[in-house]
Amino acid sequence: MKSNPQYIYIVPLGDVSDEHLETIAESIGEQFGLPVKISPNQGVPVYALDVVRQQYNSNLILQKLIKDIEPDGLKILGVTSVDLFSPIFSYVFGEAQFKGKGAVISSYRLLGNPEKESILGCPPLINRLEKEAIHELGHTLGLKHCADPDCVMNYSVGLDCADRKFSFFCPACRDLMLWNLGLDIFLKT
Ligand SMILES: [Zn+2]
Ligand SMILES: [Zn+2]
Repeated sequence: MKSNPQYIYIVPLGDVSDEHLETIAESIGEQFGLPVKISPNQGVPVYALDVVRQQYNSNLILQKLIKDIEPDGLKILGVTSVDLFSPIFSYVFGEAQFKGKGAVISSYRLLGNPEKESILGCPPLINRLEKEAIHELGHTLGLKHCADPDCVMNYSVGLDCADRKFSFFCPACRDLMLWNLGLDIFLKT
C-alpha cells in the first residue's frame, strides 16, 4: 500500500513575517515529524471580525481553514497578528479543534503589550509563537493540557507561564501524540 505524503499546512492570514513563518514551519516539522508547506497569504480574516468587540472570532477562522484544506493536508495551522477571541473568552492566544484538523494562532497577545514593539528582557516573540503553534497542533492530535510545567502542553495562564515551558513535548505527551498521529495518517490513507 502506497500512502500519499501528508502535510501540515501553515496559512498566513494578514501581516505575518516570512521569517516567523519559516521558523514555525521548521519547529513544527521537527516536533511532529511531518513535511510542512506554507500556503499563500490569505489576508486578514475580515469575515471573522466582530464589529462590536473589534476582535476576530477564532471559531469562524477555524471553520474556514478546515473547509478549504488541501487533499494532501493532514493538519492546517492559521497564523495571524489580529486580536482573536473565542465566544467564552475575552481573548485567546490561539484555538484548535480537539482531535480535528485545524488550529489558529495569533501574535497579537503574545507581544505582551500590543502598543510597544518589544519589552526589555522579554524572550523574542518567535519563541512564543513556536510554542503556541506546537501546543495548538498538539490539541488537534488529541493532547489535553499537561501537568508538567516544562511540557509544551502545559496550560499557560499568562505569558510568564508560557515563557517558562519548553517548546517540546514531555515523554508522555510525545508518545500519545505519535500514537494519535499514526492513527490519523492510517485513517486518511
Ligand atoms: Zn491548550
Ligand atoms: Zn506533557
